[in-house]
Amino acid sequence: MTILALGDQLTRTVGPLADHDGRVLMIEARDFAHRHPYHPHKLALVFAAMRRFRDRLQAAGHPVDYRRTETFADALEAHFEAHPDDDLTVVRPASHGGADRMRRLVSDAGGSLTVVEDERFLCSPAAFDEWAGDRDTLTHETFYRHMRRETGYLMDGDDPVGGEWNYDDQNRETPPEGYEPPEAPTFEYDDETHEVIEWVESEFSGGYDEPPYGGDWADPEPFRWPVTREQALRTLDHFAESRLPEFGPYQDAMREDEWAMNHSLLSAPLNLGLLTPDEVVERVLDAYESRDVPLNSVEGFVRQVIGWREFLRHVYRREMPELATANQLGQTEGLPGFYWTGETDMACLSDVIDGVRRRGYSHHIERLMLLSNFALIYGVEPAALNRWFHAGYVDAFHWVTTPNVIEMGSFGAGVFATKPYASSANYVDKMSDYCSDCSYYKTKTTGEGACPFNTFYWDFLDRNEDELRSNHRMGLVYSHLDNKDDEEIEAIRDRATELRERAENDDL
Ligand code: SF4
Repeated sequence: MTILALGDQLTRTVGPLADHDGRVLMIEARDFAHRHPYHPHKLALVFAAMRRFRDRLQAAGHPVDYRRTETFADALEAHFEAHPDDDLTVVRPASHGGADRMRRLVSDAGGSLTVVEDERFLCSPAAFDEWAGDRDTLTHETFYRHMRRETGYLMDGDDPVGGEWNYDDQNRETPPEGYEPPEAPTFEYDDETHEVIEWVESEFSGGYDEPPYGGDWADPEPFRWPVTREQALRTLDHFAESRLPEFGPYQDAMREDEWAMNHSLLSAPLNLGLLTPDEVVERVLDAYESRDVPLNSVEGFVRQVIGWREFLRHVYRREMPELATANQLGQTEGLPGFYWTGETDMACLSDVIDGVRRRGYSHHIERLMLLSNFALIYGVEPAALNRWFHAGYVDAFHWVTTPNVIEMGSFGAGVFATKPYASSANYVDKMSDYCSDCSYYKTKTTGEGACPFNTFYWDFLDRNEDELRSNHRMGLVYSHLDNKDDEEIEAIRDRATELRERAENDDL
């Protein structure tokens, strides 16, 4: 029996590789990587992490068939030619329909495949479905409390440690002038990882329908992500030791030139399997108990891992395939070209998109309140925005981005989001230092120089009035819209039309 280890299944501590000492098959298929204009750091991360995982397995005595082919089918054909009676076992692929596609490929190659459930997550499909039961609506907060009780993390008997389930009221601070978060960790890479980085740059640039990051013009920074378990553990230690204490209060803050703030940078190694959620949470709880790290920071992080991450995985599992194309507001605009270049006069989007271009990353509040928010109020089709996130971020996989982008960011389906996350420059100005140096006026909604976030915010409410006015959570904002007279509404519509034309001409 051979274990097929996919590129985001690089885990030996749990799952089939934990008690397997036989052959392992790993497949590096080029056509898969050519399908989307992926950020070169994302491809380098996956390929380098796979090859280093192969080295680790071999060092532990596993025979590893590491096949570099054009397609998965080519690799499977070669595998079954070499091992005609072999049975393959694979952990259920996270992408919708992935297990069925894999079964077909293996069957076409003349073999058989056993699919086992992914044990790395803290909540199994059966446990989630039992929790969901006949509930009309699935809310993250209810699930999160359930997970706290199930895992016992941050629990004091039946009660939450500290008396509250969440401390977000302490987590919306802005850092003082001149605040410098701890430097993000960097790593020394082996020769093969350097070769992968160079190979990706030469192999995967250009030739896509949408502008790629990986063209000559992209010029990303040097690659900086952990590709081995040791490097991933160092990232975890670094977070628990130095970034965690101020993670909570500043988790929603955005600062020009501070791309990481105090965020953990653990999503990529977690999603690849280099770390497991329980060890990440337990390391953070250890810091809480041994070093008296503030509870609001610890709880905010634990919620992301045992709550949000698990919740989204199951929402994706249950709501696909409809979720991928959900578009309940009927948004039809294409993604503005500056999402691929960062070339816009909007200081906030210019800086954050430039950071994505350079590193394949931005932190969660920039993703939600800048990138998704702007696309939402501009009217971008949710699937187009999802494709962009999927291609551009080192930690993006379909099961992660689809519920985050289509539902949370774009209010595409109404599965768990109860209102759209739409906001004007007010929010950006409150949580960032961008507006003071921007060529747009943060207080203007119409007329020359008016901030596009303001124009599109009101235009969004106006455009979607039929769908949104009856939403009880939107009552207050619609009462503000009602305060605008016809002349003002007309000026907003005109300005929105003008700004869309400018965006289409790369002049926003
Ligand atoms: S004024 Fe508007 S476009 Fe400029 S930084 Fe602020 S929110 Fe962004």
